[in-house]
Amino acid sequence: MILYDFGCLNGHLFEAGLKSMTSANPPCPACHAETTRRPSRLNIGGRASAGPSREQMPRSWNAVRQGDRETIAHWHRLAERREALEDKYPELAGDRRPILAHEGIFSGRPLRAGDDIAQAVSSAMADGATPHTHHPAPRPGNIDTKATP
Ligand SMILES: [Zn+2]
Repeated sequence: MILYDFGCLNGHLFEAGLKSMTSANPPCPACHAETTRRPSRLNIGGRASAGPSREQMPRSWNAVRQGDRETIAHWHRLAERREALEDKYPELAGDRRPILAHEGIFSGRPLRAGDDIAQAVSSAMADGATPHTHHPAPRPGNIDTKATP
């Protein structure tokens, strides 16, 4: 049994297990429309999908399509699963120190309590971070799959 994420034309998202990679996609349980597999989520060290990190979760009403119930439920499930995983693998939780600055040169890499400020500035400059760049929150199906640190 392999777990996949599916989405239908009407925007319903769900997860289902298939016998194999080549099994047919199941119909949408909500509206019975045809479904497509969603891009697979992060694979960390060959473990089962860890799902999106906290940074990748939508934070605004807009990012969850003005509060569409299915979309919120989908992210809520992912968030719960992620939390359970972080309990088990604390390294997934990433850096939880308070963020002191996230504007300007720190937009790409926030300055956190305990950072060496001179070093943080120079590495932020080296990254070529441009001031006031805000990355839009990812939406389901358009998840940035860059590896988490
Ligand atoms: Zn549907």
